Amino acid sequence: MSRLVLKFGGTSVANVDRIRNVARHVKREWDAGSDVAVVVSAMSGKTNELVSWCKESAALYDSREYDVVVASGEQVTSGLLAIVLNDMGIPARSWQGWQVPLYGSDAHGAARIVDIDGSGILAGFARNREVAVVSGFQGVNRETGRIVTLGRGGSDTSAVGLAAALKADRCDIYTDVDGVYTTDPRVVARAKRLEKVAFEEMLEMASAGSRVLQVRSVEIAMSQRVKTYVRSSFDDPENPNPGTLICDEEDIVEQQNVTGIAFSKDEAQFTLRNVADKPGVAAAVFAPLADALVNVDMIVQNISADGRTTDITFTAPAAEYDRVMDVLERNKAAIGFHTVEGAKDVVKVSAIGIGMRSHAGVAAMAFKALADKGINIRAITTSEIKFSVLIDAAYTELAVRTLHTLYGLDKA
Ligand code: ASP
Ligand code: MG
Repeated sequence: MSRLVLKFGGTSVANVDRIRNVARHVKREWDAGSDVAVVVSAMSGKTNELVSWCKESAALYDSREYDVVVASGEQVTSGLLAIVLNDMGIPARSWQGWQVPLYGSDAHGAARIVDIDGSGILAGFARNREVAVVSGFQGVNRETGRIVTLGRGGSDTSAVGLAAALKADRCDIYTDVDGVYTTDPRVVARAKRLEKVAFEEMLEMASAGSRVLQVRSVEIAMSQRVKTYVRSSFDDPENPNPGTLICDEEDIVEQQNVTGIAFSKDEAQFTLRNVADKPGVAAAVFAPLADALVNVDMIVQNISADGRTTDITFTAPAAEYDRVMDVLERNKAAIGFHTVEGAKDVVKVSAIGIGMRSHAGVAAMAFKALADKGINIRAITTSEIKFSVLIDAAYTELAVRTLHTLYGLDKA
């Protein structure tokens, strides 16, 4: 008899009909004899609406109250799914984050999971195989007793975290696509579903803009070795496809140089002109940005032509554009730059693959292929298993398609 955590995202619980469909997936596993904990998201669009109400209420709202408001979406779906399951004759109850309890840090709006006490849920399994329907995305801070949320997309993290805490045999993340693809199938029709993806690749894909899983959920799956599947809730509940397994790289037999192409449109580029070419300048630029909690991603520093001044280019999330500009302007004297140029119409395209570790020249091929298409590269970064290029947003589709074909990822 196995123990499972099943997670259903917003489109899978978008209305009561779809919640009934989710219940059929739960029933299949429960009938097969498994103990089941289900983690649900809010109905699709709900969290956005709740966020907008907070902003409408006050420009500078208290993030503790924001968490109270946005956590409510999951309360609704967990209760509804428990009602439907009971109606089908399956014992079930809802659990809010504070009831489990799932303890989170006090970083309101972006809390990390500190600890999950699964004993109440396990007692329900032992009593009458009661299905636990857990509100994703939310928890409670142990010290303050206040409700916290885990950041957008945080239900994935609730699910993987719960699977680790319950020592579940598997964590199935049900979404509206039937797995992880070589790239976004809406952009490249020839994208293929991957049977397996290594934890590290998934981590890079998630942070490079693939929206399948929240980054932190992958971190937990990797560190706690949670066997995680991404699969579709729109498959026939009686006969579903297995989806994509996120697993150790040792478990992947056929390794490609490049496994997937991800892209992120939420980028902004900043270029500081005529910065003094002397020790301490990079610190002068990036320390105040770090203090302002801006997540800087790509950094390019040019060599200076005259030995005295240089340019520094970097990227940060587009949502932080104004804050970055403000920090730079306020520190202008300390940094000592001439002008700053910003651009928001840029996109970061990344290629990810474990095979890059052992193969040279993988990125070089891409630079040539993009150049042949007349695509100008504004910045480049590389890591062991990923490289990223920053390009004009207008070329996103062309660049993604070009790289997808280049690395042999197109569906036959
Ligand atoms: N409902 C939350 C959100 O939209 C959490 C989630 O769905 O994972 O961000
Ligand atoms: Mg999601």
